[in-house]
Amino acid sequence: MPRPDPRSSHALAGGPGDPLVDTHGRVHRDLRISLTDRCSLRCTYCMPEQGNEWLARSSILSTDEIVRIATVAAADGITTFRLTGGEPLLRTDIGDVVRRLAAITAPDGRPVDIAMTTNGIRLRELLPELTDAGLRRLNISIDTLRRARFHELTRRDRLDDVLDGIAAAAASALRPLKLNAVAMRDVNDDELVDLVEFAVAHDAQMRFIEQMPLDAGHTWDRARMVTQDEILGTLSARWSLTPVPGRGGAPAARWLLDGGPHTVGVIASVTAPFCGDCDRLRLTADGQLRNCLFSTTEYDLLPILRRAGSGDGEEEIDRMLRSCVHGKLPGHAINDPSFLQPARGMNAIGG
Ligand code: SAM
Ligand code: SF4
Repeated sequence: MPRPDPRSSHALAGGPGDPLVDTHGRVHRDLRISLTDRCSLRCTYCMPEQGNEWLARSSILSTDEIVRIATVAAADGITTFRLTGGEPLLRTDIGDVVRRLAAITAPDGRPVDIAMTTNGIRLRELLPELTDAGLRRLNISIDTLRRARFHELTRRDRLDDVLDGIAAAAASALRPLKLNAVAMRDVNDDELVDLVEFAVAHDAQMRFIEQMPLDAGHTWDRARMVTQDEILGTLSARWSLTPVPGRGGAPAARWLLDGGPHTVGVIASVTAPFCGDCDRLRLTADGQLRNCLFSTTEYDLLPILRRAGSGDGEEEIDRMLRSCVHGKLPGHAINDPSFLQPARGMNAIGG
């Protein structure tokens, strides 16, 4: 994999404290931070059942290192940090990570926004600590409400723990609360209406994700995926769907259910890509910056962070962020015949 040199002479837009604008004019505001590649589940579309190659523990970023990168990113205009993984709640110091990130302020003095995507396991136990630490928003993944199906799909019998986590989130003040499901043919495509009703009953927004070619087993099949059109077709037999305008950089397009107030979202990365408005960067648990889920290039921050006497590396971190943004392509190429699936699975990239 190419390793770009942050000190190379190509013209990077701006310097420390300037916004992260790519060569297509997109301003970057959102950094997804993967806290670990480990997980309590083994979802078929994400991880192999066995034989996953874990990141070396010595390469996993410490909380100090994450905070250092995030502080430079916030000075450069990043306003949202979304914690993900793997399963972010497996990180033993998760409360500390949230507290320290939530203390970072934007150049205008406003606090940054801290969100998390989780499978919900251990959420009931950890939620008081997380909200106290400054977590503002939650996305919880739930692909099925049926126990045997959940077990088969995630290879773990943990549906009750996930439902418990969702109930705790629904009872909390964190809003909007979002529930994510990957729609899969002959797996859960008969549950789309049930999942929306479940979300509405929990004052949450259901969001269906088109399955993407990011599984560790490389088994994704374009012809078998459930498309946004199919999802909307199924839902419109139950509700009248009215598009919600003003999507901005959000990955989900949304529709009001029977005029509102509840909505459903669809993340149609494959059939209706939204790359033109993308404002996201990613940081893997082992310190690699990525400008796209589907990119095959990574920008390595570890040598900068771990060099002896690296206390003065802030300018280099800024340059690496700018190199990463500079290298961003106008769009992903999932639909091109030449598309190459990234080597890492979704659990190691950070969804
Ligand atoms: N473990 C947490 C969870 O499951 O929410 C956070 C990490 S997970 C990688 C983040 C999101 O990516 C989840 O909503 C999951 O459903 C989604 N995801 C994983 N693999 C995917 C794939 N191949 N296509 C579409 N979405 C995927
Ligand atoms: Fe774990 Fe999330 Fe991947 Fe499922 S989607 S295996 S919960 S990281």
